[in-house]
Amino acid sequence: MHLTETQAEIKELARNFAAAEIAPHAAQWDREAHFPIEVARRMGELGFLGMLIPEEYDGLGLDTTSYLIALEAIAAADASTAVLMSVHNSLPTQMLLNFGSEAQKERWLKPMARGEMVGAFSLSEPEAGSDASALRCQAVRDGGDWVLTGTKSWVTSGSFADVIMVMARTDAPDARRGSRGISAFIVTRDLPGFHVGTKEDKMGLRASPTVQLTFDGMRVPAANLLGEEGQGFVYAMRSLDNGRLGIAAQAIGIAQAALDASLDYAAERKQFGRPIREFEAIQFKLADMGARIAAARALLHATAAQKDRGESTTLHGSMSKLLASETAMWVTTQAVQIFGGYGYVKDYPVERLFRDAKVTEIYEGTSEIQRIVIARELYNSHHSI
Ligand SMILES: Cc1cc2nc3c(=O)[nH]c(=O)nc-3n(C[C@H](O)[C@H](O)[C@H](O)COP(=O)(O)OP(=O)(O)OC[C@H]3O[C@@H](n4cnc5c(N)ncnc54)[C@H](O)[C@@H]3O)c2cc1C
Repeated sequence: MHLTETQAEIKELARNFAAAEIAPHAAQWDREAHFPIEVARRMGELGFLGMLIPEEYDGLGLDTTSYLIALEAIAAADASTAVLMSVHNSLPTQMLLNFGSEAQKERWLKPMARGEMVGAFSLSEPEAGSDASALRCQAVRDGGDWVLTGTKSWVTSGSFADVIMVMARTDAPDARRGSRGISAFIVTRDLPGFHVGTKEDKMGLRASPTVQLTFDGMRVPAANLLGEEGQGFVYAMRSLDNGRLGIAAQAIGIAQAALDASLDYAAERKQFGRPIREFEAIQFKLADMGARIAAARALLHATAAQKDRGESTTLHGSMSKLLASETAMWVTTQAVQIFGGYGYVKDYPVERLFRDAKVTEIYEGTSEIQRIVIARELYNSHHSI
């Protein structure tokens, strides 16, 4: 794929940063289920937390392709670091940019773009996953504040994020308005009644803290309501269109890392007196892995260009996320097979890549939900890139 000079520079910067400051530690962070916050600060210094924010709000104002190239390089080193970067860049910052007031942008978006504040996104609840509009966390207006009560689940970076975009109900319990009864609130951890709950003990992505948040009559100033009351679900869904491109890039990074490790291993590992890459069965696996990754990346970058032209990416964003995440799961499964028994232990990275790949088929809309979105969009109109 042809890269512009800026895109090539970004790719080089991200690869060098990932090779020097992330890859050497990824296995240890996974083992200890720990993410050092200094890494996020460092990403901020390098501009990776403000890539899609215009320069007037202290971001880099880059195109979507540059961002996805950087995200893929970081995901290839560590998927947990990549999910922080993806959520921060795609969800809370984009919601502030697109729907926030100038005062909110000054107060939160600018420091987030500079990487001084890390963002999180809180839509899911224990009883509201794929059917997110069924969420129950309740916000009630009280003088100059909103009072929030409820439990949010699965909040990526929720144990340390400075700014959390929280979706809560602002309709009355006896007059529910479905998805139109949901508003978005800018929540900071200093608010009275904010509590961090259980940290999930996950299969993969172990360095990324995924936590429950409980709000016990948490008082949120009215100035922290994002945009219009009742529009929070619409804002969240629009942002997830962007988020899915980030998750696709994360999945492609994981898959590429598995292919690279497999190519090296197949050259080194000898059985029956020759490197295993001389066996056709192994060559065919490597060929299919490479072809599927290239196809997923090509669709993602075509979708990124579509986004930068200002077109809707609902259809191709869902297709990209579906194709890339299923590719990551398939490629990492082949990688474990190529490594044989050594693929099943923690001495080599493919075991972690296999565990990390799975979640890309689940979050920001499961594969089943992506297929529902794709089918709906195909019925509604015949799009092409
Ligand atoms: C590591 C991790 C990080 C996450 N980070 C965040 C975050 O930062 N913020 C946030 O808000 N959320 C986050 N999530 C939540 C995530 O988005 C949800 O897990 C996801 O949307 C699925 O919801 P669920 O887990 O409740 O599954 P469910 O919705 O209960 O789904 C269970 C199964 O039923 C299927 N299903 C459901 N409805 C349908 C249907 N209509 N048709 C066909 N099949 C269906 C699903 O595809 C799935 O296979 C995270 C999750 C994980 C695991």
